[in-house]
Amino acid sequence: MDYVSTRGLAPRLGFEDVLLTGLARDGGLYVPETWPNISDELHRLAGNTYADLATRVMLPFIGDAMPAEEFAQLVSRGVATFAHAAVAPLVQIGPNDWILELFHGPTLAFKDVALQLLGHLFERTLTARGGRMTVLGATSGDTGSAAIEAMRGRRNIRVVMLHPKGRVSEVQRRQMTTVLDDNIHNVAIEGTFDDCQALVKDLFNDLDFRDAVQLGAVNSINWARLMPQAAYYVYASLLLGGPDRALTFSVPTGNFGDCYAGLIAERLGLHISRLVVATNRNDIVARALTTGFYDKGETEPTMSPSMDIQVSSNFERLLYEVEGRDPAVVRAAMEGLRDQGSFQLGRVALMQARSLFTGRAVSEEETLDTIARVHGETGLVIDPHTAVGIAAARTARMQRDIPVVTLATAHPAKFPDAVERAIGKRPALPDRLADLLERPEHYDVLPADADKLKAHVRSVVGNGG
Ligand SMILES: *Cc1c(COP(=O)(O)O)cnc(C)c1O
Repeated sequence: MDYVSTRGLAPRLGFEDVLLTGLARDGGLYVPETWPNISDELHRLAGNTYADLATRVMLPFIGDAMPAEEFAQLVSRGVATFAHAAVAPLVQIGPNDWILELFHGPTLAFKDVALQLLGHLFERTLTARGGRMTVLGATSGDTGSAAIEAMRGRRNIRVVMLHPKGRVSEVQRRQMTTVLDDNIHNVAIEGTFDDCQALVKDLFNDLDFRDAVQLGAVNSINWARLMPQAAYYVYASLLLGGPDRALTFSVPTGNFGDCYAGLIAERLGLHISRLVVATNRNDIVARALTTGFYDKGETEPTMSPSMDIQVSSNFERLLYEVEGRDPAVVRAAMEGLRDQGSFQLGRVALMQARSLFTGRAVSEEETLDTIARVHGETGLVIDPHTAVGIAAARTARMQRDIPVVTLATAHPAKFPDAVERAIGKRPALPDRLADLLERPEHYDVLPADADKLKAHVRSVVGNGG
């Protein structure tokens, strides 16, 4: 399997190079050169364990990068850290409504699904090639802790993780800053998540710097972050009578990575009726899917902070797909975004996007109401991101007889303040994290300035960190 850049000016690469490269050298994102269709195989996967199913779903994307048995082992080790035997249990919340609980991993958000595997893939590839890597990431809250947990203590990897100062929840911050391993370096940036993400892209786009410190990416700009997420769409579908039975998924959305993973599953041959792109009031993607006009606004803080994003990186991958895989169109759109803060989707492209995706923005009130309603109707306590997904699914639903699966992206204990506002009680952290609020923390603070950040990364690397 070979991968090409959405901007068409970077070399075509195999899986392992895509894994280590992260962002393409032309600023674009890597995507498979062609989509494998495995619909025959999907029919045979019902009843498999999560790990076996996920291995089969991902193998076409690995190609000959490693033997299938070895990859299967890495996948098994990746899910072994999950606290639920089903890995991603499907839970019914209404007559034809379900949530897929993706938050049973070590840091209580769905990002563990991909990052636990990514840690093993990085280590294997770096060990085989004899290299080291400086993972540079930006987090709106959950990627950071999931990446840190997956990479801590690994000899050939150091991590520099940026989070927007004061804009992640206390639990989220502490899950990162209380990890004191020598190879982990947290930085609070005086700015928003979009500032953090722009800094990461700036440093990647300085090719000399990038090579000097061997930058690697754990954000969903890295293809290997998305591929594992396609597996749980397949898993849920097979439990509900797929792959041929039509299903709607509602996806709490920030960077559009999880949604794009739904597109991957659909391309593999899964019957997906609709992907609901559920956003909070930072609704750039929902608006773009309605109007065709993608224009960047100001990021506003909400109670679902992991979705407080205005520039959704993976929208570029969708754009590439719906614009007929024409890199020139993607380059022009991204120049528009850089220079004017906006671009317009072509008419046919917009129609294509809307044939699978429906965008819905959800207000803060609706989010609280949904947490309370689901609790009242089922006794389940859900987190605010999941609530956004459920609320969006309700308004976007077209046919009653098509099951709706909302991706439950975080454990409610990560967002105790919002949950308490909705239902009057604070969800408890699972035992393994019970003393989180007492553990010592360490992090540095920097302004949103690329040169200062480069100096910081160089000092970390220079100190052997
Ligand atoms: C990251 C995150 C999201 C958004 O996922 P994207 O792939 O960035 O769209 C939603 N909910 C939670 C809890 C997250 O951590």
